[in-house]
Amino acid sequence: MTLQLNDSSLFRQQAYIDGQWVDADSGETFPVYDPATGEVIANVPRLGAAETRRAIEAAERAQAGWAKLLAKDRARMLRDLADAMLANADDLAMIMTAEQGKPWPEAKAEVAYAASFFEWFGEEAKRVYGETIPAPMGERRLVVLRQPIGVTVGITPWNFPSAMPTRKAAPALAVGCTMVLKPAEQTPLSALAVAELAERVGIPAGVFSIVTGDAEDAPKIGGEMTSNPIVRKLSFTGSTQVGKLLMEQCAGTVKKVSLELGGNAPFLVFDDADLDDAIAAINVAKYRNAGQTCISANRVLVQSGIHDAFVERVVELSKTVNVAPGFDPSATIGPLIDDPALEKVARHVADAKTRGGEVLLGGDVHAEHGRTFFLPTVITGADMSWEMSNEETFGPVTAVHRFESEADAVRIANDTPFGLAAYLFTRDHARIWRVGEGLDYGMIAINTGFISAAEAPFGGVKESGIGREGSQHGIEDFLELKYMAWAGIRDE
Ligand code: NAP
Repeated sequence: MTLQLNDSSLFRQQAYIDGQWVDADSGETFPVYDPATGEVIANVPRLGAAETRRAIEAAERAQAGWAKLLAKDRARMLRDLADAMLANADDLAMIMTAEQGKPWPEAKAEVAYAASFFEWFGEEAKRVYGETIPAPMGERRLVVLRQPIGVTVGITPWNFPSAMPTRKAAPALAVGCTMVLKPAEQTPLSALAVAELAERVGIPAGVFSIVTGDAEDAPKIGGEMTSNPIVRKLSFTGSTQVGKLLMEQCAGTVKKVSLELGGNAPFLVFDDADLDDAIAAINVAKYRNAGQTCISANRVLVQSGIHDAFVERVVELSKTVNVAPGFDPSATIGPLIDDPALEKVARHVADAKTRGGEVLLGGDVHAEHGRTFFLPTVITGADMSWEMSNEETFGPVTAVHRFESEADAVRIANDTPFGLAAYLFTRDHARIWRVGEGLDYGMIAINTGFISAAEAPFGGVKESGIGREGSQHGIEDFLELKYMAWAGIRDE
C-alpha cells in the first residue's frame, strides 16, 4: 500500500539519532504492518544497544546547551513543533491509521491531542519557579532551584502512537532535558514523523532521538537505557509486567522512574444516573480505539434498579458502532492491533460464556472483514471470577456486572491490583464525594467518559504506575530540586 500523503517526506523509515537519519549497524530492518490488511507498509531499522548508547551520548552532549536556552526560546520552538503537527495533521493521521488501525478522524483527534502537549508544556516551562525558605539561623538564606534532571529516556506503547511519545518528550524538552525515545514495534512511524517535524522547526541535534527496534530488540534497547549511568530518568508507558522489569533494571543506577501502566477501569452506574450521560460515556470509554486504551471501561458495574434499561441502551448503542478499516469513512472502530490482541479478546469472551455470561450482541470477528476486526460485544452476568474482570480485555467488549449497594460497588471496583481510571455516574452529590474518595484510583471521571487533557495529571496508583503525565505535576517528574544554603549574611 502506498499512502497518498501531501508531504511524503513525513514517512520516515530510518531511526533518528543525533540529528541524523540512520540505519541499524547490522543493516537489518523489521516490517511494520497495516493491521487492517496485514500488508507490510514500511521497513524500519532494528537497532540494539550500540546505537542506543550513541543516542544517549549525543543526548548528553546536547543537554547543557539546550538547558541553557531561555525557557521562552525552548517554548517558542515547541510551539512551532505543535503548529507543524497541526499543519500536517492529515498526513500524520494517515500514517497513524495505516500503522495502528484507528479510524482516520480519530487519528486526527489524537494528533491534535499529541500536539497540545508541546504547546502546553512549552508555556508551563516559563513558570518553573524556585523557592526561598525562612531560615533557622539569622545569617542564612535558603534557596531551592528546580533544574532539569538531564538525559532522559522514554519507551511507549502502540495504542497512542503520537500522543504517548509527545506526552513524554514535551515536558522533558520544555524544561531543558533531552530524550531518547523508543516507540513500539507496531507503530514507530508516527514517532518518526514527529522527529522529522522536530528537526524542521530547529530542535538541535541530539535533543530528541528516536531508536527503533522490534520485540526481540526491545530488551537490548531497554537494557542500555536502564543501565547507562548517563540516563537520569526513565518514563515508560506500557504493560505492568514490562514496567516492573524496567523499574528493577533502573535500580542499578538509581534512576528516577515514571510508569504509566495497565488499568482495569470500573465504570459505576447508580440507579439515579442520567442514562444519556452514561451511554454517551460508554461510547468513548469503551469504543474509542476499539477499546484498546489503558483507561477503557473494563468492568461495567450497574445498580439493579437501572440495570435492564442500561443494558438495553448499550445494545442499541453498540449496534450503531461500525467496525471497518480505518480509512473507510463509515468506520467508527477499526481492527485490533494484531493476532495476539484478537486471541486475548476471544479468550475473554469464551471464558465469559463458560461462566454463564449471556452474549447479547457480537462475540465474534466481523463476518466480512475477518482477521482482527472484532464485533462490538455486550455480555451480561459478569462477576469477578471472569478473566476479563481481572485483566484488561483491550477490545470492544462491554461486560455488565450487577450490584445492589454503594458499598458493594466500591468494594468490587477496588478489588484489583490496578488503580488507573474509574468512571462514576450518579446525580447525588454526596455520593460523588463518598464514592470518589473511596475509589483507589488515580483518576475519576464523574458523569463523563472523557478525561485526558494536557492540563490534567494523568496517572495511576497501585500497580498502574508511579508519577503523573500532563499538568504541572508532569513537569515535576523531569526536574530535580537543588537546595542551596547560603551562610555568612551578617548585619553590617
Ligand atoms: P508492552 O508490551 O509493555 O510494550 C510497551 C513498550 O515497551 C513497547 O515499546 C515495547 O517494545 C517495550 N518493551 C517491551 N519489552 C521491553 C523490554 N524488556 N525492555 C524495554 N522495552 C520493552 O505494552 P503494549 O502491549 O505495547 O501496550 C499496552 C499496555 O500499555 C496496556 O497494558 C495499557 O494499559 C498500557 N498503557 C498504559 C497507559 C497509561 O498511561 N497508563 C497508556 C497507554 C497504554 P516492543 O513494542 O518493541 O516490544
